[in-house]
Amino acid sequence: HVSAGRIVASSVEQSYIMVKPDGVQRGLVGEIISRFEKKGFVLKGLKLFQCPKDLAEEHYKDLKEKSFFPGLIEYITSGPVVCMAWEGDGVVASARKLIGATNPLQAEPGTIRGDLAVQTGRNVVHGSDSPDNGKREIDDKLITPFLSVALWFKEGELCEWESVLTPWVVE
Ligand code: UDP
Ligand code: MG
Repeated sequence: HVSAGRIVASSVEQSYIMVKPDGVQRGLVGEIISRFEKKGFVLKGLKLFQCPKDLAEEHYKDLKEKSFFPGLIEYITSGPVVCMAWEGDGVVASARKLIGATNPLQAEPGTIRGDLAVQTGRNVVHGSDSPDNGKREIDDKLITPFLSVALWFKEGELCEWESVLTPWVVE
């Protein structure tokens, strides 16, 4: 719909969740998907993908000046990642809680990083840090029609579907 002269995406929030190369290599893909499925969020996009260097640099551009940036880019491009779009009310903040603190040694038990990882540089999963970044990372063409600058998914790669479970998760 159109609001204040701008076309806005459906109010349902999406988070870009990515199993990083260490998570794929360690066989944690199913486990990580499972946590979001069990929570009650809805999967709208999913692919195995070898991330090129320029995309990794764009995705992490806010960290460009950090000393760990070159190592981070090498890590993210070191093998395939699993790209996911998860949808639901409050999914961005909730996913950050499910994922846990950036440093896995500080992440609470019960979180993905708290249960499955040890080092910040091998913390198995990414989650969007704001709804706007969720859009930037997944699908922002509804905010900027005619100019999609979404990072991880192309036209046709997301599925518009309704889960029959939704009425049993959301009243
Ligand atoms: N990172 C790192 N060393 C650091 C901080 C971050 O290698 O000291 C990596 C780590 O993989 C982290 C990513 O850079 O997940 C992005 O950092 P951010 O602070 O955005 O953490 P996140 O949002 O992933 O928790
Ligand atoms: Mg971040």
